[in-house]
Amino acid sequence: MKTGQLVVFSAPSGAGKTTIVRHLLAQTQFKFAFSVSATTRQPRPNERPNLDYYYITQEQFLAKVKTGDFLEYQQVYEGFYYGTLKSEIERLRALGKNILFDVDVHGGLNIKAMYPDDCLAVFVSVPSMEVLQERLKKRNTESEAQYEMRIEKAKQEMRLKTYFDAVLLNDKLTQTFQEAESLINQFLGS
Ligand code: ADP
Ligand code: 5GP
Repeated sequence: MKTGQLVVFSAPSGAGKTTIVRHLLAQTQFKFAFSVSATTRQPRPNERPNLDYYYITQEQFLAKVKTGDFLEYQQVYEGFYYGTLKSEIERLRALGKNILFDVDVHGGLNIKAMYPDDCLAVFVSVPSMEVLQERLKKRNTESEAQYEMRIEKAKQEMRLKTYFDAVLLNDKLTQTFQEAESLINQFLGS
């Protein structure tokens, strides 16, 4: 099985990226490490600083943009920046790991363009917009305004799925996990 490879999961908010990525991290045979992004949004109650995200201020984020510290970054939602630090990728590659990303659709396509041969870019899709809305509501992590913003953005993001290496439909979770593992086995070589 190869190492030093990149596997990206992108999807609209609420599609199930975090759930899938957490499952894959627990499958030790893949030697995955999670690429911890920097963000200017506030931590959710269940999130752990430096493990889920590096939480920084907008001022700190923009300073890092200026000094070229990001491999890629996006203002994913108005006023909220997210980015992959070059230092994070160097750190994880030096550990001999494969790297797992949970990034937005534009970030995912940018990473794929930078590492065309060493990257598998997977788009996570949902059975319908209604299911997506239901999952986001049930997760109960967003204010009403944030929720609306995420649903609006989801419609644009869905249109970009054809540019990905694979589309993974997240309907029944056990089947999604199996299909995700199968995609990764093919990519890394079992
Ligand atoms: P994302 O990281 O893409 O925003 P999450 O992994 O946080 O999405 O999933 C959004 C919500 O939907 C969470 O509450 C999660 O438990 C739930 N969820 C994820 N996958 C499924 C599924 N296949 N069926 C039902 N609920 C799901
Ligand atoms: P959330 O606030 O729900 O954790 O994430 C919101 C969106 O930002 C998700 O689509 C997530 O994948 C994306 N995101 C997280 N980190 C990064 C990153 O480093 N770069 C980019 N481009 N998007 C990211």
